[in-house]
Amino acid sequence: MAVPSQNGTPQYEAVVIGAGVCGIYMLYRLLKLGLNATLLERGSDAGGTWYWNRYPGARFDSESYTYGYSFSKELLEEWDWSEHFSGQPETFRYLQYVVEKFQLRDHMQFDCNVQASTWDDENQVWTVRMEDRREVTTRFLFTAIGMLSAATMPRYPGVDRFKGESFHTYYWPSTPVELEGKRVAVVGTGATGVQVISEIADKVGDLTVFQRRPNWCAPLHNGPIDDEEQAKIKASYDEIFALCKKTPGSFIHQPDRREFKEVPREERLALWEKLYASRGFGVWLSNFRDIFMDEDANAEYSEFIAGKIRERVNDPVVAEKLIPKDHGFGTRRVPLETKYYEAYNRDNVHLKDINETPIVEGTEKGILTSEGELEFDLIIYATGFDAITGAFDRMEFSGVDGRRLNDKWADGPITYLGLQTHDFPNLITLAGPQSGSVSSNFPRGIEDAVDWAANLVAYLKENGYHRIEATAEAEDEWVETIKSYYEGLLIANTKSWFTGFNSNVDGHDKLRYLIFWGGAPKFRERITEVAENGYDGFSLEK
Ligand code: NAP
Repeated sequence: MAVPSQNGTPQYEAVVIGAGVCGIYMLYRLLKLGLNATLLERGSDAGGTWYWNRYPGARFDSESYTYGYSFSKELLEEWDWSEHFSGQPETFRYLQYVVEKFQLRDHMQFDCNVQASTWDDENQVWTVRMEDRREVTTRFLFTAIGMLSAATMPRYPGVDRFKGESFHTYYWPSTPVELEGKRVAVVGTGATGVQVISEIADKVGDLTVFQRRPNWCAPLHNGPIDDEEQAKIKASYDEIFALCKKTPGSFIHQPDRREFKEVPREERLALWEKLYASRGFGVWLSNFRDIFMDEDANAEYSEFIAGKIRERVNDPVVAEKLIPKDHGFGTRRVPLETKYYEAYNRDNVHLKDINETPIVEGTEKGILTSEGELEFDLIIYATGFDAITGAFDRMEFSGVDGRRLNDKWADGPITYLGLQTHDFPNLITLAGPQSGSVSSNFPRGIEDAVDWAANLVAYLKENGYHRIEATAEAEDEWVETIKSYYEGLLIANTKSWFTGFNSNVDGHDKLRYLIFWGGAPKFRERITEVAENGYDGFSLEK
């Protein structure tokens, strides 16, 4: 173990793990506070999600002008988003710009694959060990390790046997991948698969989509931002961010406060038509809220969307396969798309429903299904992530008396405010399970968490505290709060990463309470109150 020096002083006051949207801002705030801080990043550059996910079609579903950081007026003024929903290359460039502008790079260390972090209670120091055995010591440890950063692969036999090119979308190479004329398979039809399929359908020779369960997708309606709009956006950033602060998901989209049943059907349909034709997540988030709680309301809206799918897909048999039958609209993450359904009208695109035609095994040339072998040049796995807790599970955290976080969270996470967990002092789990950040427009959500964490560190320093730990009682209460928000939500009855399911990970076959569903304003209110009360629910030690 690294030496915390003779007098127990660690090398750093703060270490941040992860150089994505969250870690970059945390590092910025720590340096502003004058702390001796460093950031350790697994990749070879900053960018997090936008460093890794370079697959064709990768872009966010947040309005670009709600995705940038809000902390610097100068940055907001300087940066021009070129599209309403910016693609991966632009967002990656944006984060690089932020890193350079605020001179953060000198405080970042790349190619640092953190494997284990161990707490020394006597010296009140974390020792962080990397894959190459290097170690650093720190008083405070901040995880900004991503909620969708532990990619998962299917486990059918022979998945590694394929001799052609094959990638999980998360690990898409930075060098160009030849698509023209290629026989391509895509496995998975979540938000990622939907983007890849839409983007490459007209570029590849032949595309076979392996679908296990379809999702309810709706149009993104992306478009360029012209000079006039750009000027308008820049002039209204204060209002944009104020609006995001008011909405449950920290987007510009507000729920319709009326009850579904109190609005006549004709009016409901008019609203839905308008939402379907509008940009972004309004189709999901500006709806009547009881659509996500009332089976009948949800069924009616789902039928409306099913009608749209039937209109857009020429072959009625294919259309029915693309319409989810096992869950209602919005009970899983809604992928927004650009001509996704139209891709299936192309002669070179084939949909394989793997419930009808199961994958038997991988072969050297492709994939053997129950109907025979299909040969490919490229296989793309858009098979998702061990979401929210996966990145924690892949690292080893040993707390007080060697207690392991993996053991503590084996049946699901246990946290206080999603920001701390008992027995793991001075570990702040930014964008961790059960925090408000994970159900928010991400940059907006993490700004709340990072600002809170930065204020915490300032408070501890000012008051001479060296150790902070959530109490077991506060944690129990928080877990109950988290659970209470699942009650009545149709989301709770639907298997997806929202509810902790992943067929590719052992034990992730039951509901786990990963997400705070109370909405960003309530989360912000609660963490502010905790801070104002001198960090209620935490024990602080000098
Ligand atoms: P995902 O939503 O978990 O989808 C994974 C897909 O792979 C599902 O269709 C799943 O089928 C399928 N799959 C998994 N294992 C399989 C197996 N063994 N055999 C066959 N099929 C299998 O993952 P994702 O699409 O990467 O998206 C994850 C999240 O990332 C999104 O929900 C979103 O929050 C974020 N994201 C955002 C954007 C954006 O902002 N536009 C874009 C991409 C991703 P089942 O449904 O049957 O499980």
